[in-house]
Amino acid sequence: MPLTLQQQQQIRQQTDRLIQQAAGLFEYPLKPIDIYFDLKGRNLGMYVMKNRQRYIRYNPHVFARHFDACLQQTIPHEVAHYVCDCLYGFGNIKPHGAEWKSVMRVLGAEPRVRSTLDMTGLPGRHYRQFHYDCGCTSHQLSSIRHNKVRRGQAVYRCRQCGNVLQWQDNARE
Ligand SMILES: [Zn+2]
Ligand SMILES: [Zn+2]
Repeated sequence: MPLTLQQQQQIRQQTDRLIQQAAGLFEYPLKPIDIYFDLKGRNLGMYVMKNRQRYIRYNPHVFARHFDACLQQTIPHEVAHYVCDCLYGFGNIKPHGAEWKSVMRVLGAEPRVRSTLDMTGLPGRHYRQFHYDCGCTSHQLSSIRHNKVRRGQAVYRCRQCGNVLQWQDNARE
């Protein structure tokens, strides 16, 4: 874990503070959310909604290197995904559409999607991966394979159970 306990605490507090701020501004009862520091690779943060559970994952390696920038950009970015999910419903809006942008502005953050932070030399994969499920385990597909599935050009099966892999559209980067 590249972050000190104090830094982790600071990230949790900032996340909670923004959620409370949004709850007040939108007059919507937003609960505090679970936070995990288990992301690697190119993602700075990720909001996940799975089996009625909601949580935020942060990339501790990027936070350790760009702590202040992540505090100012990544935390509101993921909190805004959470707020949008609660207010509008996960699948009803575009991930970084008008609703997400307006929540970002309300939280005092610039609604920028892509980060300009230097990620060279950080551990993990640096290309995008997509989360698939077969029923017995989870699978990560590259964007090349994912695009083939989306275009109907390929079907991938689990080697263990033989089921077709289904895209789990349950996360917002
Ligand atoms: Zn399987
Ligand atoms: Zn996002």
